[in-house]
Order: sequence, then C-alpha cells, then structure tokens
Amino acid sequence: MVRYVYDFAEGSRDRAGLLGGKGANLAEMTRLGLPVPPGFIITTAACRAFFATGAEPDGMSREVSRHLSALEAAAGRRLGQLDDPLLVSVRSGARFSMPGMMETVLDIGLNDASVLGLAKASGSERFAWDSYRRLLQMFGSTVMGVDAARFERAMATLKENRGVPDDAHLGAEDLAQLVESYKSLIRVETGAEFPQSPAEQLRRAILAVFRSWNGVRARLYRRREHIPDDLGTAVTVQRMVYGNLGPDSGSGVAFTRDPATGRPGLYGDYLPNAQGEDVVAGIRNTVPLADLEQLEPGSYRQLLKHMRTLERHYRDLCDIEFTIERGTLWMLQTRVGKRTAEAAFAIAAELTDEELITPDEALARVSGDGLARLMFPRFDTAAALDALAHGIPASPGAAVGAAVFDSAETVRRAAEGQQVVLVRQETTPDDLPGMVAAQAVLTSRGGKTSHAAVVARGMGKVCVCGAEELTMDIEHRRFTTGSGTAVEEGTVISVDGSAGTVYAGAVPLVDSPVMQYLETGRQPTGAVGAVARALERADGVRRLEVRANADTPEDAARARRFGAQGIGLCRTEHMFLGDRRKLVEEMILARTDTERERALDALLPHQRRDFAGILAAMDGLPVTIRLLDPPLHEFLPDRTDLAVRIAAAEARGDQPDPHDTELLDAVGRMHEENPMLGLRGVRLGLVVPGLVAMQVRAVAEAVVERTRASGDPQAEIMVPLVGDVTELRLVREEVEGVLAAVSQESGVPVRCPVGTMIELPRAALTAGRIAEAAEFFSFGTNDLTQTTWGFSRDDVEAAFFSAYLDKGVFDASPFETIDRTGVGRLVEIAVVEGRSTRPDLKIGVCGEHGGDPESVHFFHAAGLDYVSCSPFRVPVARLEAGRAAI
Ligand code: ADP
Ligand code: MG
Ligand code: MG
Repeated sequence: MVRYVYDFAEGSRDRAGLLGGKGANLAEMTRLGLPVPPGFIITTAACRAFFATGAEPDGMSREVSRHLSALEAAAGRRLGQLDDPLLVSVRSGARFSMPGMMETVLDIGLNDASVLGLAKASGSERFAWDSYRRLLQMFGSTVMGVDAARFERAMATLKENRGVPDDAHLGAEDLAQLVESYKSLIRVETGAEFPQSPAEQLRRAILAVFRSWNGVRARLYRRREHIPDDLGTAVTVQRMVYGNLGPDSGSGVAFTRDPATGRPGLYGDYLPNAQGEDVVAGIRNTVPLADLEQLEPGSYRQLLKHMRTLERHYRDLCDIEFTIERGTLWMLQTRVGKRTAEAAFAIAAELTDEELITPDEALARVSGDGLARLMFPRFDTAAALDALAHGIPASPGAAVGAAVFDSAETVRRAAEGQQVVLVRQETTPDDLPGMVAAQAVLTSRGGKTSHAAVVARGMGKVCVCGAEELTMDIEHRRFTTGSGTAVEEGTVISVDGSAGTVYAGAVPLVDSPVMQYLETGRQPTGAVGAVARALERADGVRRLEVRANADTPEDAARARRFGAQGIGLCRTEHMFLGDRRKLVEEMILARTDTERERALDALLPHQRRDFAGILAAMDGLPVTIRLLDPPLHEFLPDRTDLAVRIAAAEARGDQPDPHDTELLDAVGRMHEENPMLGLRGVRLGLVVPGLVAMQVRAVAEAVVERTRASGDPQAEIMVPLVGDVTELRLVREEVEGVLAAVSQESGVPVRCPVGTMIELPRAALTAGRIAEAAEFFSFGTNDLTQTTWGFSRDDVEAAFFSAYLDKGVFDASPFETIDRTGVGRLVEIAVVEGRSTRPDLKIGVCGEHGGDPESVHFFHAAGLDYVSCSPFRVPVARLEAGRAAI
C-alpha cells in the first residue's frame, strides 16, 4: 500500500524528493527540536498520481483526514471549530526550491461563523477579520481563479476612502467590510460562493497547490533552472501561527550570512503585525532584522540561537522564515539559501576554515558559471556620471539598458534585441518573464529578501532593490529621482548591482577584480582570494588537462596566464585573411602548378612567422595546429558584390575590371549548395596540390627557428574532417615527407605528432581504424553535433531552437551543452575503439563544449585527457574539471 501522507515527525531533509524541500526541512527542524508548528506533508508521488489520472489518488483523502484528526487532537480544537477554530496553511514545496513560483493558501478553516469565534477566542476582532480577508484573497485567486489584482484594487480603494497609508491602519470594521466586498467579488467573478465548509476549503486548496506545479510561472522558472517537469510538488498542511495578532507579533525572513557577499552576520527583514507573505511582497516597508533586538529581545535571542544551530547542522548558509505570535517565536521554513557567485566562493572558503566542510566539499559548492560571472567587467566608477539613486545591492554585476516599466514591454523590446532594465516599484511572480528578458532589475521597494532580490540572485541577474528615493510613476511610464529628475521610459541607465547604484546613461566598463587577478597573478585578497583557493584546489584534484583555442600569440599568452596547459586548437584560417587575401586569391585562381607554387611560396613566410609567435608564447607546452579547414571560396569576394560591380561598370559603358570577371568566374565554379558538407577539411588538402605541404613546412620551419633560439616548441599537426583512415594516411605521408625534408635541410630534427579531429559520425564509428594513423584525437564537437543531428547550426538556431526548447525536445541547446545520449555516445565509442588500437592515444576536445561546465563533467567521465576552450573559459574549465574529479 502506497503512503501519500507523512507527519513532520516522520520526515527528514534527505527525503526532499518525496516530501519536497520545504516539507523535508520542516521535518528536519522538528527533529532538531526547533519550535515548528505541527503539520503533515502530502507527497510529490500523490501530485504525480494526480497529474497522471486527473484525480486524487486512491486513499489520499482518507490519509489526510487521519492526519488532520491527529493535528486537531493535539491542538484540542477542530478545523474551523465555531468557538475557537483551528486554522491551517496549505503550502507548496517541490524538491528544488522555486521561490514564490507556486501557490500557498493561509488561514484555511475560517468562515462567516468561525471568524466570530476566532475574534472572541483571541480577544482581537481586527485580527480575526484580517485573517478572514486574507483567506478570501488567497483562496479566491489561487483556488477560484479570480485575478489577484481585483482584490488589491478593492483594498486600495478602501485605504483611499479611509485616508490611511497602509493596511496596518485599517480597523476591525474596515476589514469586516473588506470581507464583504471580497465575497461579492468572488460571487460576481466566478458565479459561485466562497465555500463555507472548512473540509471543502482544505480539499480544494490541496488540489490547487498540486495544479500550481503546472502554472505558467512555475513552468517558465523550471525551464530556466533546468528543473525537470515531472517531479511534482508536495503539499504541506500546517497549523497556523499568527504574526498579525498585534504589535507584539510579526513575521520575518533571515539569512545566516549575507547572501550577497557571504560575510557572516545576521541579515533579514522583519514586519510587525503581519503575516509572512507581506514581508516578501513589499506591502509595507520592513525593518532590518537588527531592530528586532529592541522590539522582541527574547525572540531575537532565540532566533540567533536557532540560526546558529541550523548553520552548523546544514553546514551552509541557511535562509529562514519565522513568525512571532504574541512574543513566541515559531520557525516556518528553512533551506540552504541562494547566494551570489561571490558569496558562494567566500562562504565555501570560510566554512573550510571553520572546518565545517572539507576542501572538496568547498569545491563542490562553487561553480564554473559563478566564476564566469565574477569575470564579467565592472563599471568604471571613476568615469561614472552622477548617480541617479542608491538602493540595496541585491545581486551583483554591471548592466546597461533602457528603462522599461512593465514585464510585457521588457519581453517585447528584448525580443527585438534591445538591452532593457526592468523598473518596478516591487516585482511579483508575474514579472518573471520580464526579469528573464531584462539585463537588470531595479525596484524602489523591498529589501535583500524581497521577491526581486531573491529571484534575481537565483538567476545571476543584476539587481538593485529598495531604491527608495525613486518615485515610480508606472502609469506615465517614468520615475523621478530624489532630486526631481524625471527619467522616461526608454532612457538608457546603468545599474551597478554590486554597489547598489543607478546611473544615467551608459557607464563604461573595466576589468573585475577576479579578472585583474587572473591577468596579473598578483596575490589576491578578500573575495578574490576565495576564488584563487577554489582554483588551486581544482588544479590539485583534476585529471583533465585544460588547453585553449587560440590563433594568435596574444590569445595564446592570455590563455597561458589563465592557466592553459597548451593550445588544443590553433586555426590557420585567419592567417589567410587580411592583407594576405591577395596571395590566397592568387593561389585559388592559379591555372598552372607554377602559378600556384608561387602563390603558396609567398604565403609561407607569413604563416611561419605566425606559428613561431604562437610557439614562443606557449613555449614548452603543446600547440595543436589544424590544417586549413573551410572551403576555399570563403576567401574570395562575395558573388553578389562582384556581379554588382561588373554590372555597374557595364552600365557606365566601361569595360569591367578583368580581374573581377575572373573572380566571378571562379566564385561561380566553386559555388557549393551546401559548403558545410562540401570541399573542405582534409578534402581540400587532397585535391589542392601543395596546400598541405606549404602549411606543414611553415610549422616545421617555425619549430626549427624556435629550437635554434633555444626554445622548446611542441607543435602538433591536426587534420580536420577526416571520415576514413585512408584520407588520413594520404595526408600523413605528405606531412611526414615535409617534416623529414625540413629536418634534413636544417639539421634540426623536427618531430610533430600527427593526429586528427573526430567530427564526423563515420570517423567516430571507425575510430579503431583511424587510430592506426593518428597519434591523437581531438573531438570537434561543433561539427560532430551538426553532422550527428543533421543540423546546420547557422540555419537552425534562429529558425526553431526556441520552439524545440519550449516543447522539451532539448533541455539545452546541443551546441552549448553536449548531447550526451547521441553525440556523447559517438564520443564514447571513439574513445574506447581508438584506445584499443593505440593505448597511448591522446584524446581531447576542442569544440565550444570544452568550456561548458556540464560538458566538462561528461568529458571527464568519458576518459578524455584534456578539454580545450576559448581563453576566457579556461579558468571555468579548470574549476569544473576539478569538480568533476571529486
Ligand atoms: P513560498 O514558497 O512562496 O515562500 P510559503 O509556503 O513559504 O510560500 O508560504 C508563504 C508565507 O506564508 C510565508 O511567509 C510563510 O512563512 C507563511 N506561512 C506559511 N505557513 C504558515 C503557518 N502555518 N503559519 C503562519 N505563517 C505561515
Ligand atoms: Mg516560503
Ligand atoms: Mg570542424
């Protein structure tokens, strides 16, 4: 018999898959002896069963009743009991935290009669009516589908009529009146009455929470966070405690450390006389948690103690929700808190020093994505103009964009390619699409724990919140600064999420401190020191080597500073461009062998110089040089341009330039319907005489030059786009011939390993044969992805990738993260078969996937020797290679 319901006392944090994170952690806190209002959890399995059949699973409601009875017995009151009702909350909570993305209904059990009982039993009419109007509002919108804004408007109207600034100033009679308007609002909007039966309220709320798993916001959030769609949410039913019972009550949220910097200390917001959802919603301005010491000294001390207990128990930064009911503290939620990248590194280092976690655990807690974020540039504050406003630095980074005042417009402009900053008084979960589309989020209300701050931090998006000097005029789509400057929609502003400052215009950018450290290697301090420690640890444990893709001495030098252990891919293409184009044209247009040889001979010294420079920058480390890959006509002028030029000359009555005519002719001859699958890669080398020989000679002579200069050149020659071992054998013969010739001429022995790219499915499938002729493999995963899927990257990304992501065909673009099941399978086959032919075969990857965190973990598991990526991704790859190894 499957069980669908568990009491708090039965759960623990390691059961988050079944009980949801919120439920599992409530159970954990209960076990730790912290003051948690009692309750029970309906499992995610029940939710999945509900979605599978469209109905409550068999036996679930019986189990719920049984647990409810136990809750009632312990409380000595029944749900909705007329003279003294027990009230409960019905809370969502999935395995992975999705803050504010699903629904929760508070104060279940109130109705027209029990509200009077609650008033009498508590001695506060205001509290009873306030709770009832909250229930109507939440139940009406979440369960009955009334637009939440309708309730807010009714509340706003009432406040205006009474001339009061916020809901705390509304009295019992006002709130009783509000209850009447809410009830009629529900009646008018839905044609149905608010259900008076507590049992019906409970049942419907549970199902509504199940359904909120598939709400628009929740789905969007999951896609963005790569959370699977089929996990389902658990539902927690918990006895209510009341933060709205008067001035000695209240609700708050807190972090055990600063989630923005990781610094230890108490961070949080508190709101007297309020229920929990008010705190994050920014309904009223909260007070800093430190003020609680004066307001409720006893609760404050206890809270500190519980927070220490939690941090030591979870061995990590925790965030918590709490409520104080008439001087008594209750813990309502905890979880390992979201944090900025900077805080993640700082906390990991600090907890290691406190010996709460091991260095490997510390490494597991930071990420390559986080490191990449810390490498982004910062604003050059010296060059910044006057600040428009200061707010709370909620999520760090520098962003520039046009100020826009609503989510839909943000999405629209971003889709047109504009950079946008979403500006709101405060954000709600409905703003999520705009937050995703924006470069940054700016709000005039709310603290570090407000919705805007929490969600932006989770997404790594720049955010300044609580910029209180700004007056928002959403209706006229502008805001006014403290000094009276009006900023209209569309005005470009700069948002500094690290300092909490907003500037007019686009402020120029400078290197971040982490980038300065990587560039100079200077002894780091503070937060950068924590990054350096993580990288050091990663370097100590990783098995994968990290190389860089670099085509110039400058890039090679930077890659080396960033820790690259060689070059995995040096493309020769760019060496054929620029002022050498002329020589390349001559080579392509050559009619005789002598003409072609002359052109190739002219290219040779240029190539040699380039190679010598790169070998010098990477002295002592391997440099893998790939022979020319793209189709030759890419080096000729555009066909249309030429045709237009010729037509224009003819129209003027002039004779067209004979060179143009010749070029057009050549372009026509070489035109390919599908150049990606045409005459390129090794095929070029096999049909254009002398092309391979010239490039290899340039490499070999550069090696000689470096050797004579007492260098230690380690060039490797890589043949692209091989599909059959014979192609490689033929090219290799030519390569070996040139190497031998240069060795002989110079008297300097030149030995370069020769290998191939594996970038065609046929190469992967015949890797055992190809390894007979290859000393190394390098997976060209960009082309391998194109050829395995039959996608032309340039054509498909804009055409249908977003539809494929929406429909769940992919979780991520296969060009960003390696497709493990398809392309990855080819990689695995080629590794195994290549090594069975040649056990010491060196194997790497040089596609863009080499710098993608998830892909790095795959390449580690597949047994590769190295990954190669762009210089800027080298530190990221080092870190992730370390994380993959622990
Ligand atoms: P979310 O996941 O959106 O944070 P929660 O389930 O945590 O939703 O609930 C929303 C708010 O209601 C929180 O502030 C929470 O602390 C408060 N809350 C939930 N259950 C109770 C309860 N039993 N008593 C008092 N407040 C509660
Ligand atoms: Mg919560
Ligand atoms: Mg390729």
